[in-house]
Formats: sequence, C-alpha cells, structure tokens
Amino acid sequence: MATHGSIFEDMLQEFDGAARILNLEPGIWKILTHPKRQIIVSCPVQMDNGEIEVFTGYRVQYNITLGPAKGGIRYHPGVSLDEVTALAAWMTWKCAVAHIPFGGGKGGVICDPTKMSRRELEALTRRYIAEIIDAIGPEKDVPAPDVNTNEQVMAWVMDTYSMHVGHTTTSVVTGKPLELGGSLGRREATGRGVMIVARESARHAGFDINGATVGIQGFGNVGSVSADLLRAAGARVVAVTDWKGGVYNASGLDIPKLIEHVSRNRTVEGFMDGEPFTNDQLFKLDVDVLIPAALENQITSENAAGVRAKIVVEAANGPTTPEAHRLLHERGVFVVPDILANSAGVTTSYFEWVQDRYGYFWTEKEVNERLEAKICQAFDAVLRTSLKYKVDMRTAAYIVAIERVATVTRMRGMYA
Ligand code: GLU
Repeated sequence: MATHGSIFEDMLQEFDGAARILNLEPGIWKILTHPKRQIIVSCPVQMDNGEIEVFTGYRVQYNITLGPAKGGIRYHPGVSLDEVTALAAWMTWKCAVAHIPFGGGKGGVICDPTKMSRRELEALTRRYIAEIIDAIGPEKDVPAPDVNTNEQVMAWVMDTYSMHVGHTTTSVVTGKPLELGGSLGRREATGRGVMIVARESARHAGFDINGATVGIQGFGNVGSVSADLLRAAGARVVAVTDWKGGVYNASGLDIPKLIEHVSRNRTVEGFMDGEPFTNDQLFKLDVDVLIPAALENQITSENAAGVRAKIVVEAANGPTTPEAHRLLHERGVFVVPDILANSAGVTTSYFEWVQDRYGYFWTEKEVNERLEAKICQAFDAVLRTSLKYKVDMRTAAYIVAIERVATVTRMRGMYA
C-alpha cells in the first residue's frame, strides 16, 4: 500500500488509457479525473481504558452524475485520503460498468479494529457517521461494508442516521442484517459474482471451471465465499493465504472445514488438512485461476513475471499495479478487472436499496437470478468492448464506464 506511491495516480493511469482510445473531450476528461467532494473528519472516542483517542475519518464522493454516491466504509491502519479517493473513483466506474444508477463514493477510518473492543468500534462508528451525517442519505450517499466492516457496523450506521433524522431510514446504508432491511444474498454477493466471472472467463479461455484449479489470496467475506462457490461449481481450490499465513493441498482444500477453522482462529494458518504456504508461493503457483481477494498493490512489477495462472480475477479493489497489469497482459494472462470482477457486491447493494425503498423484499432465488443476469450482461459488454477495440479487459471496462458517465454528463450539461 503506502510503499507503492499514489493509488489515485494508478487509477488515473488506468483511466487515461481508456479516455485516449475514446477521444474523450478535455472538459469531460477534467471533470471525471477530479473528486467531487472529499470530507475529512476527526472522531474523538473514549476508549475502554478511559483515555480519549482521536481517529481520522474520510468520506469521498468521487462522482454523483448517475445517482447517489455508493461505496463501502473501510477500517484499517493503512487508510489514507489518497486510497479512499482512488477507491471512490473505482466505485464510480464499477457502478457504471454494472449499469446501476449510482455514483461512486468511499469511506475510511484510520484505525486497527483488531485491537478495539466491540464497544469502542460502536462508539467510533457512531461518531464517524455523526461527523459526516449531512453528506449521507438514501438520495445522497449510501455506505456499505468494506475491509473490516460488517453487518453489525452497518446496523450502527443505520441507527445513528435514523436517530439523527428522527425516523427509521433503512435505505441509508446497505449490507445490513436481514432483520433490519438487509437483502438475502447480499453477504455472499461479491463472492458469487467472482465465481460467475471466473466461470465465464474460463469458458472464454476454452476450459471448464468444473475441474479447474484455483488459488486465493485473502479469506475474508469475499475470499471465503468465492472459494466455497467455486468448490460448489466443481473447481479445486488448492491454496489459500491470508494476513497471517497460508495453506496448500494439491487435491483441493476442504473449504467448509477451512471456513470453520477461520471462524475459530481468524486465520487459515494452522489448518491441519494442508501444508503451510506463503503469498510468494501462491502468486507463482501453477493454477488455472488466481484470485487476489485482499488489498491493493499485491501483484506488482516485482512478482508479476512469476504469475503462471491463466486467469486472474480481481476480487479485491486495485490488487494489480498498472505496471504489473501490463506485464500480465503481455504474457497473455486474462485479467478480469476489479471494477467488473467484484461488482456483484454493489449490484446486490442496489437491490437492497431498491427493496428498502419499496418496503417489499425478494426471495433469495430472485436476488440471485437478477444478480446472475446483471453480472453476465456486464461481463459480455466488457468482453465485446475488449474485442471491438482490441484492448485488455481493464481498458475495456473503463471504456464502458467512461462512455456511460460521459454521456450523462454531456446530457445534463453544466450548472452555472
Ligand atoms: N465495498 C464494496 C465494494 O468495494 C461494496 C460497496 C457497496 O456495496 O456499496 O465494491
């Protein structure tokens, strides 16, 4: 992360490549490469030991041309304004690729949730939301889970906002528990989308996901659900690594057992039905599909040449640096970019927001069928664009996104 330089600059490099191909006019280019709004807040919290800590929080609304800003809230020691701005820009392109009526936003708080009690996390969440309360709302900006935030944190977000406005407002945030306006299928959605695009990519590359081998970096909500659904689709998940360690089993890891192990130990390390394994080994592994499902800047110019996978599915946001991406593309690795590969999370957030505003809830089957249709449409649109312009899938995804946002920007015209 911080060691690599600016993540926002990386995003701009990706953007520029596509904007050039589109011959995007300079005015729209300027608009789309500037964040609309960046908010920085200080959040004092009384810790369990009685002392007061002040946490820095950000909320960036990168672009709201297509609708309310949409994007998660991340709790991590490495959070920075640069990172949150890049992530908010990626949400803009992701929502446009997914073809849902949202702009892009992102929030982050610099903290280490692994060292905080539940009470401290609740106090931090409520204070952070209170500090940004005027900027969020169902029509303005709708947060969601991201790294180290979950359904419980979203419940606190919903409650804090509702207490401020004086009535229960479920549609202010997505990724909530089912009991208070969450959607069936939301928790699994990102992993489900990763499985779908891995399956479609394999078909495009000329092999079947059934019987394919898979390696995964990261075993949080996204990595673990992707692993489980890929296993259910007949793939063999042979290696998983996380923040602490890794495991390898050539005949395929027992994913339900591994999930159980992680719920007890918070890491895959120490799992008995496999050998210890490192991240370095994972990236060099001879697998069909490699899935980075952790943080940014994991596949870099240092390790990209060693990647032997046929397909890389970017379940995380920004896991491949632009230089590494070039190296992979040159060697014929088919990279499914983050703004397509993990867009099922926000797509199902959109379904949740729709259901909350309707006050009428869908069955899990309905959610999953609609999700499958949306993801396959997005995948086809990007693949067609990549074949039409003879570009990689990332550039193609940006072309699709920029065209959609630029068209609406032109139609809406300039205010004042
Ligand atoms: N944090 C997720 C992402 O990066 C989900 C965002 C959302 O559902 O709004 O796409």
